[in-house]
Amino acid sequence: MENKKEVLLTGDRPTGRLHIGHYVGSLRSRIKLQDDPRYDQYIFIADCQALTDNARNPEKIRQNLIEVALDYLAVGIDPNKNTIFVQSQIPELTELTFYYMNLVTLGRLQRNPTIKTEIKEKNFDGGIPTGFMTYPISQAADITAFNAKYVPCGEDQEPLLEQAREIVRAFNSIYGDVLVEPNGIFAAEGVCRRLPGIDGAEKMGKSLGNAIYLADESDVVKKKIMNMFTDPQHLRIEDPGHLEGNVPFIYLAAFAKPEHFAAFLPQYKNLDEMAAHYTRGGLGDGTVKKFLNEVLQSELGPIRERRKQYEQNIDYVYDMLQQGSIKARAVAAETLKRVRRAMGLEYFEDTSLRDEYKSKYAKK
Ligand code: ATP
Ligand code: MG
Repeated sequence: MENKKEVLLTGDRPTGRLHIGHYVGSLRSRIKLQDDPRYDQYIFIADCQALTDNARNPEKIRQNLIEVALDYLAVGIDPNKNTIFVQSQIPELTELTFYYMNLVTLGRLQRNPTIKTEIKEKNFDGGIPTGFMTYPISQAADITAFNAKYVPCGEDQEPLLEQAREIVRAFNSIYGDVLVEPNGIFAAEGVCRRLPGIDGAEKMGKSLGNAIYLADESDVVKKKIMNMFTDPQHLRIEDPGHLEGNVPFIYLAAFAKPEHFAAFLPQYKNLDEMAAHYTRGGLGDGTVKKFLNEVLQSELGPIRERRKQYEQNIDYVYDMLQQGSIKARAVAAETLKRVRRAMGLEYFEDTSLRDEYKSKYAKK
């Protein structure tokens, strides 16, 4: 039976454990979408992509593969509802990348805003690896191999999706309609699209050392919250406070629900009321942080507990990745076959060129 469901695809680089930025930017929508009968969801661990800026540290990537898989299970991503796989186990992706490379100029890669920002953050001494520069092309291969129409992700991925769409359009116009154009699905709340770091940096990133990890123990979470950047002008409680760049308020916007107020801070009904008090003066940063701590502990506690259970069953985690990779590989192989056919590379399966030459050189 033909699969009529639309395909969703998302991935994470195994460069560290997953953090609350991943949770609000991408994981939360995956958990919701896995129960939506309209979609078929693929989730992968992008170890090859992670190697593009960690080539000299392969052990880091190997170690974090299982950490990311544990985080998936801990947040409630269900292997029976999704295909969970490992990028390096799908060699078809490399071949697709090689063909797509011809459709993208170097100048286009250099102008990609995400790549530009990441190059600044990563301080490549000794030059930028070619593999890093071209990872947007390999990402287009990941997306198109599974015919993904939607990619639930953070806002930093939008320029990469645009690059993928350009490749799809170029490919389809040259070789025929083979590839599906992908679209991003971004969290409804703006703050969730790019959650800042605990240091106030524009983005929480696992390679940036400014994250609250899903697996952090409760005392670690609390410590990170208590050290958070707030409003440097808010010296006394009665001073008016500013919300702009105020990390605890940004996190509350991503996590606090009315039931948290009812349970932990009943003098306010919602975040708007609390924020109004803060801006008018009279609400201290300590109270805000204490509330944020209650909210995050109640969200992260069950995740941490579930993770601990899976940590006791590593065989289950490996089997899940292996089974998912076998299933995903079959789908990617199917796409690659269509790509090779469209490009006219099936020299031995397709006899039309052979026949053409036979008649061209046939003795008159
Ligand atoms: P690295 O620093 O190694 O690139 P990362 O923290 O950026 O790691 P990725 O594995 O690159 O994480 O991203 C996985 C997914 O999580 C992507 O969809 C990305 O947009 C999303 N994401 C990552 N960081 C954030 C964030 N701070 N806010 C919202 N979404 C995020
Ligand atoms: Mg990233």
